[in-house]
Amino acid sequence: MSAIVIDGRKVSKDIKDELIDKVSNLKDKGVLPTLAVVLVGNDAASQVYVKHKKKACEYVGIRSLAYELSEDTSEDELLKLINELNKREDVHGILVQLPLPKHINEDKILLAINPSKDVDGFHPYSVGNLSIGRDGFVSCTPAGIIELIKRYNIDIEGKNCVVIGRSNIVGKPVSMLLTKENGTVTMCHSRTKNIQEVCKRADILVVAIGRANFVTKDFIKDGATVIDVGMNRLDNGKLCGDVSYDECAHVAGAITPVPGGVGPMTIAMLMNNCVKSAEISASSL
Ligand code: NAP
Repeated sequence: MSAIVIDGRKVSKDIKDELIDKVSNLKDKGVLPTLAVVLVGNDAASQVYVKHKKKACEYVGIRSLAYELSEDTSEDELLKLINELNKREDVHGILVQLPLPKHINEDKILLAINPSKDVDGFHPYSVGNLSIGRDGFVSCTPAGIIELIKRYNIDIEGKNCVVIGRSNIVGKPVSMLLTKENGTVTMCHSRTKNIQEVCKRADILVVAIGRANFVTKDFIKDGATVIDVGMNRLDNGKLCGDVSYDECAHVAGAITPVPGGVGPMTIAMLMNNCVKSAEISASSL
């Protein structure tokens, strides 16, 4: 039997289409949702990400303000720009594209963003809210994973959820979100013993390690939901996940492909956070 293929491109488009109506309502109230996107330097991958984010803003109707700064921008100059954006009432979200050039301290920059505009959800205030179960901005890839699972009507409550990877941007937040949804969560990492056995008990397996085809069919319980976050570029230029898709798709009940699974959800959730921020700001008018 072949698994249901979880189509992240379709869900991402559905979410963006839903946001078009919300943006239109906000515009009727005189609020134009606005995202400031800050890019420092010439990193090719970052330039592509920023281009996709701007395109998504256009699609949804969000105004994007682009700040493309040279590689030699100082930390102080960047902090000054963030402070200006923090103060602007017409800016609802601030996104600083990572990684930053080495001479700039990323933690210091992320900490400078006003948490009420932290649409990437990386500020410690946002992470703290998530960890104590309060509302706030949730980082986009983990939020996108939960949204995908929910939109395919896959129950999380009471399920054994295993997450491989404990990074601050994927593994930890997605583990917290699965716990919030009443899943029973095990987080694995590079020191986990008998990882294959642990994964084989999972009803929902989320893999975020950055190792091509690490998870084989022997990790998967019959009928499990498998979410592959990995994005690995092979020598032949092809993009590939952390899960060996072809063999796992015969054992899993539902599975995300790479590309076209989790990837497209990240930008959709960024748009969602931006609209949410504008709605909060509109409610205080
Ligand atoms: P990361 O910061 O490098 O963290 C990798 C995690 O995997 C670490 O916790 C590490 O364990 C664990 N790990 C590494 N090798 C392992 C092994 N052999 N067995 C068990 N655990 C192992 O990576 P990340 O930023 O979370 O990203 C993970 C992947 O997701 C990457 O391919 C990245 O490109 C992709 N990604 C995709 C999106 C998207 O689709 N939008 C967004 C973000 C990331 P230790 O902590 O013990 O070192």
